[in-house]
Amino acid sequence: MSTLELNYQHVLQRLQQACTQSNRSSQSVRLLAVSKTKPATMVEAVYALGQRSFGENYLQDGMDKITALTHLHDIEWHFIGPLQSNKTRPVAEHFQWVETVDREKIARRLSEQRPADMKALNVLVQVNISAEEQKAGVLPDEARALCQLISELPNLCLRGLMCIPEATGDEQRLSTQLQAMQALYQQLAAEFPAMDTLSMGMSGDLELAIACGSTEIRIGTDIFGARDYPSNN
Ligand SMILES: *Cc1c(COP(=O)(O)O)cnc(C)c1O
Repeated sequence: MSTLELNYQHVLQRLQQACTQSNRSSQSVRLLAVSKTKPATMVEAVYALGQRSFGENYLQDGMDKITALTHLHDIEWHFIGPLQSNKTRPVAEHFQWVETVDREKIARRLSEQRPADMKALNVLVQVNISAEEQKAGVLPDEARALCQLISELPNLCLRGLMCIPEATGDEQRLSTQLQAMQALYQQLAAEFPAMDTLSMGMSGDLELAIACGSTEIRIGTDIFGARDYPSNN
């Protein structure tokens, strides 16, 4: 087995174990393989192992791979990076999901720019659950208003919420944030019936995230190995 395959199988195993421990079906959690900065050949190798959902942070880097891999018809691309309003068009035209919508202007532009012959663009609202100063995302008490707006835009489908919790070694603190996110998600999902996705959990906290109801974990390094240059998140 290649290192890539060993890594991938190990992540799948962790996902399954975490689901078993939380009495959840492993079908209820999607693995998003975060391929940012990695070449299209590696994406294709992981696709060959059965993986279908891939996450990209940087527009040009992501677009290069989407263009190179158009022959993989059922591959699904998620944009998970910071999104500037003057760069929404390629995202609206080429991705199936955007997980980092945190303001009205971006949402409106994505809906306007989504091509008419494509399915609605799946959207997650990014929530700044730790309320950190410089962090992207709406504050928890602003999430409802943005969800309402997105649910009324014609070419977007509001699928749920996403968060990047505080980078802290304090397990209790992290747990409090993930639980707050779960509560917010449950409250909003009751109001917006198309919601079925809570994207939280990365390599270090996937078990806790799954225990707190996550339906999508985002894993990069543990599948693809360390990146040559760091994420700007
Ligand atoms: C890079 C990134 C990940 C994956 O991080 P790793 O530490 O490489 O597993 C997940 N979510 C977001 C938003 C990211 O930017």
